[in-house]
Amino acid sequence: MSTHPVENVVVIGTGCAGLTAAVYAARANLAPLVLEGPLPGGQLTTTSEVENFPGFPEGVDGFQLMDNLRKQAARFGARFEQALVQGVDFSASPRKLVCADRTVLAKAVIIATGASPRMTGIPGERELYGGKGVTTCATCDGAFYRNMEVAVIGGGDSAAEEALFLTRFASKIYLVHRRDTLRASRIMSDRATSHPKIQMVWNSVPLEVVGVPAGAVGGLKIQNVKTGAESVLPVKGVFVAIGHVPNTAAFASVLDVDPNGYFVPADGSQVRTKVPGVYVAGDCADHVYRQAVTAAGMGCQAAIEAERWLAEHGG
Ligand code: NAP
Repeated sequence: MSTHPVENVVVIGTGCAGLTAAVYAARANLAPLVLEGPLPGGQLTTTSEVENFPGFPEGVDGFQLMDNLRKQAARFGARFEQALVQGVDFSASPRKLVCADRTVLAKAVIIATGASPRMTGIPGERELYGGKGVTTCATCDGAFYRNMEVAVIGGGDSAAEEALFLTRFASKIYLVHRRDTLRASRIMSDRATSHPKIQMVWNSVPLEVVGVPAGAVGGLKIQNVKTGAESVLPVKGVFVAIGHVPNTAAFASVLDVDPNGYFVPADGSQVRTKVPGVYVAGDCADHVYRQAVTAAGMGCQAAIEAERWLAEHGG
């Protein structure tokens, strides 16, 4: 175990929140160290066209947006290292971030670890995940399903977006939702339900991804919750889009989290925690808005708070 010198501010995470925090902290001359986890660039790198980020009238590619943001942070002096924080010790200063191969010490910490796709947990899902037909990313994997039938599970904006993206490749998309109305925004719902390639499968829950013995998805077994009838959709791909789980486990024993695992900030702030000098930002602390622009806004707030805290406490 080697120990690094004490950093001014460590940003954990490189999604919209983390990189925006890095831009602001870097421009404040704090030379932030940014710890990059398993999905550099965060969830936006798995999305296709981002149509609602302010300033891009024609939309912007999610990967491109995050790449730009990363370059912007680096230009002002942010440093990037790959490390997964597995535990923390916030009982004394400097704060300790325990990673697999080292412990990082920091005066101030901004946690922007985002959220990961939720899985259904049905049989076959885990066995056939990643290259065998079960995926959470149409942008990444959609092109593998050219002229094939696929299923998307979920009823929110993500499910609608995945289904619409897949219309570029797949011959038919079954959108499997457990209720009879989509949770997705009106515009996305209308687009999805009116698309000729998308067939709505209402009131249906997935029971099993078929195909484990063959090592490839051969169908999706579903049940109609109103009639109890079971059937198998003849699909080669299953796209799971049922929401997300916040990545807060490494911090949950020392910071406040709600029953779903989302950080609960201190009263009167979106980003302050009960530990002085430790801030949260983005989807790990926001189950309400969960937008790229709101995550960026929280990253900005966290960096400004950290900068002020360091100025007051000997940064
Ligand atoms: P979400 O809004 O939480 O929707 C999750 C969907 O999955 C719901 O329809 C839910 O059903 C269903 N579901 C949850 N657990 C399930 C299970 N175990 N089995 C079957 N179905 C299950 O999540 P999201 O779609 O990922 O969206 C998250 C946030 O990001 C939202 O605020 C959304 O507006 C935003 N977003 C925006 C865009 C865009 O603007 N282009 C794109 C993606 C996401 P119920 O409806 O019955 O609860």
